[in-house]
Order: sequence, then C-alpha cells, then structure tokens
Amino acid sequence: MPSAPFVELCQTARDIGTLNSVSSLLNWDQETYMPPAAADHRAEQASMLASLVHERRTNKHVGDLIATCETDKSIVADPSSAAAAAVREFRRDFELATKLPGDLVAELAKVGSQAQEVWKDARQKSDFKLFAPWLEKMIALVRKKADCYGVAKGGERYDALLNEYEPGATAREIETIFTPLRSRLAGFIAEIARSKNKPSDKPLHAKIEADRQHKFGQFVLGAMGFDLKAGRLDVTTHPFCSEMGPSDVRLTTRYRDEKFTDALYGTMHEAGHGLYEQGLPKNGKLDGIPLFGTPLSNSISLGIHESQSRMWENLVGRSRGFWEWALPHAKQILGPALEPFSVDDMYRAVNIVTPSYIRVEADEATYNLHVMLRFQIERALIAGDLEVAAVPSTWNKAFKDFLGLDVPDDRRGCLQDVHWSFGLVGYFPTYTLGNLYAAQFWETIRGQVSDLDQQIARGDFKALKTWLNQNIHAHGKRYRAADLCKMLTGAPLSADPLMRHLEKKLRPIYGI
Ligand SMILES: [Zn+2]
Repeated sequence: MPSAPFVELCQTARDIGTLNSVSSLLNWDQETYMPPAAADHRAEQASMLASLVHERRTNKHVGDLIATCETDKSIVADPSSAAAAAVREFRRDFELATKLPGDLVAELAKVGSQAQEVWKDARQKSDFKLFAPWLEKMIALVRKKADCYGVAKGGERYDALLNEYEPGATAREIETIFTPLRSRLAGFIAEIARSKNKPSDKPLHAKIEADRQHKFGQFVLGAMGFDLKAGRLDVTTHPFCSEMGPSDVRLTTRYRDEKFTDALYGTMHEAGHGLYEQGLPKNGKLDGIPLFGTPLSNSISLGIHESQSRMWENLVGRSRGFWEWALPHAKQILGPALEPFSVDDMYRAVNIVTPSYIRVEADEATYNLHVMLRFQIERALIAGDLEVAAVPSTWNKAFKDFLGLDVPDDRRGCLQDVHWSFGLVGYFPTYTLGNLYAAQFWETIRGQVSDLDQQIARGDFKALKTWLNQNIHAHGKRYRAADLCKMLTGAPLSADPLMRHLEKKLRPIYGI
C-alpha cells in the first residue's frame, strides 16, 4: 500500500504534467496554426502557465513530502525499485526548480527572448558583432545558473548545465568518448573523400509535390507503428515532436519540392521521438496510482530521446532493407519522378558523406564533428577560457581542423544555431550521445532479433518497436541513461558501435 505522502507527490506531479501539457498544446498551436496577431496574448497565456508550474514545483510542502518519502523504508529500502526511483527524481526536480532564484529565472527568460531576436538579425546579416554583447550577457547568466545548481567536487561548472539535459553526465566523461571518436571519424571521412566511387545524389533531387510527400510520410509513420489516432503530423518551419498528454503526440515536418528525403528523414526522426512518447507508460499505474506526470512516465534524458529518433532515421531509414521495402511504395505514392531509380541508387544516395557547413544538414558521419566543435567551444566559454569576442575565430579554426573547410561567413559558422541565444548550454553534446546510444542499442537488438534486417526489408517493424517499448520506453525515468545502457548492452557507452556501423555500411558504398 503506497504511503499517503507518496500518493500526494504523484498527484502533484500529475497536476504539473497536466499544466505542462496545456503549455505544449499552446506551443504547438503557435508553431502551426496560430494567426500572427494572437502572439501577444499567447505570450501572456504561456507566461501565466509557466508561473503556475513554477509555483507548484517549488512549493515548500512538496519538499516536505519528498523528505518524508526519503525516510520511508517501504519506499527506499530497495533503491532500484520504481517507487524509490520516483522519489529520487522528485528530489532532483525539486532541487532544479528551487535552487534558481526567481529573479534569475525571469532574467534568463527575458534576455533569452531578446537575444533570440538579435540572433535572428545577426544571423541574417552574418554579423557576429551584433550578437556578441547579448551572448556575453547570456553566458554570464548561464554561469550564474550553474553556480546556483552547484558544482560537484572535482567537477566543473559545465557539468551543472549538462545535468539539466543529461542527468548525471559530466563533461570529462563526454570528452573521454568524444576525443578518440573525433580522430577516428576524421580519418574515416578523409578516406571517403579520396574515394573514386562516389554515389550520385540524383535520386534525392527528384521533384515531388508536398501533398504526395505528406501522404508518403503518413504511410511510413503507420508502418513504423506510430499511432495516428493518438497523434498527428503537421507542417512547421522547424520540425519537432511534442507530447501533450497520455494519448496525444504531435509531430511536425517541412516539405521541399526539390529534396523529398529531407521531409522523409525529418518525419522518421520526429516519429522516433514520437514512438518513445507513445511508448512511455503515461496511462500506466503503480500500485493503483496513475503514472502520468510522474518521473516513471517521463523520458530519461535528451540523449536517450535522441537515440530513439536517430535509430529510426539512420539505422532503419538509411538501411538497404528499408529501401527494398519502401521503394515500390514510394514509386506508387510519390509518383513517376522516382521511376528511374533502383534500390541501390536510393541506398547509395541517402548515405552520401561530405563535409558541409550546416549541422542540421550534415550526414550521419560528419554530423558528430559539428557537435564536438560546439561542445569544445561552449565548455571553454563556461570555464572562462574563451572570450565571447573570440568565438568566430575559434570556431573557424576548429572547423578547418575538424572538417577541413574554410568557413565563408558567420551565418554558416558560429551564428547558425539558435541554442546559445536562449541559454541552452550543455544541450549540444546530447545529439552525439543520442547517435552513440542508438548504435550501441542497435547491436544489442540485432543480437536478440536475429532476422531484423529481413523484417525491415518486409516493412515489418513490430519486433523492433516491441523491443524498444519493453526495454527502453516502459521504464520511464527509472534508470539513469548510463545505467540503462549497461543493463541493456552489458557495457558502458562507447564510440565503437557507431564506428562499426559507419564502417560496415560506408566502406562498401564508397569501395574503400
Ligand atoms: Zn531529435
């Protein structure tokens, strides 16, 4: 029988979850259908909800309930139990919410929204000097935030920021994985660049209208097992996945007539996030207590979330089996523009590797170098080892080192991403962590689902989805990412599975 304080904590979490789901809905509407003139009132709505959530998260009574649960032997005697994990995460959330003084939270939000507007203008004009004073302000605030959270002994300020997105991870651990991965990737990419056997990109540029692309996207979503009765696919400028309640997951994508694979892979990526959200036990119960809103129905970390999206986008979507299944359907739904191309043409085209300037357009191999560069720069900014004024020159030099290209302007260099403008520091590394977790989970899944490749080639994704549902989604936040990885794969996170995956796929394609 769960104790009264535990039941009350879960009820509070459910209220917060419900308020958050209303925020998500408003946000989704703002990005999709809201008329522009509604923006001011929408900001009022969003800010009122945010303060309601903040009040509830920081309520002193919640702190007392957590403290009571922490001394309740029936909960904490077994630290690996679901209830103990929930209390651990209630504590973490309470600490994150209460350690920041209200005026700092307000200042971060205000400077963030101003800096974002300045960043838009600076990026458009490709003028870093416009953005520099705002980035300075933001970095100062973010450092203050890290100090409020507190730095663990032997750790660094950056860890406190990283912890918001990837609980328990540290900069040093990430560096230990990233540094060797970087040189292995760089060597491999250079080998690919010297290949005389480069795939043609013609199939990617078959001209296909948006409504056909939308139809095909929905067809692939259905095959993946994304429940369209509990979700939607709409159009936005920046694709995302948003969860707004136990049976409502919204995906968005964007269509470009001249490159249909952008929308296809964007949709598969967001659907990977969406399957995770649909797979979390939001309708589940623990000893009769509904789980919605509690840590046991929330995702583990951004890195694990990204592992789900990257798995469907890259490991499934860029495999030969996927195209064996998908191409006949694609020809039927997307129309005659694809008629000239074979499975091999498609498979080779979607796996082209070539260094480029923009992270979000980068291929599976070079993508991680973009992330490592940002990690290096933001870590130095937070440590105080790098001045904001030196960001462009440091970026450009590192870009040449990492990817071998001269950055032509800041728009295609250090001004390309929105993250720093609203204070998202410690976020970037989770993109590469996602790729690494995906590849490592994939090796385990292949070991357990012996004919996975053949299943994919038949468009049968049930066994894969069930594996993810049972082994990753069902746990909510019960395990930390590093522990889940060890539990499922028998080893700590490593760069080896990703390198093995890339080499095994790309060497034959490039004849190297
Ligand atoms: Zn993602």
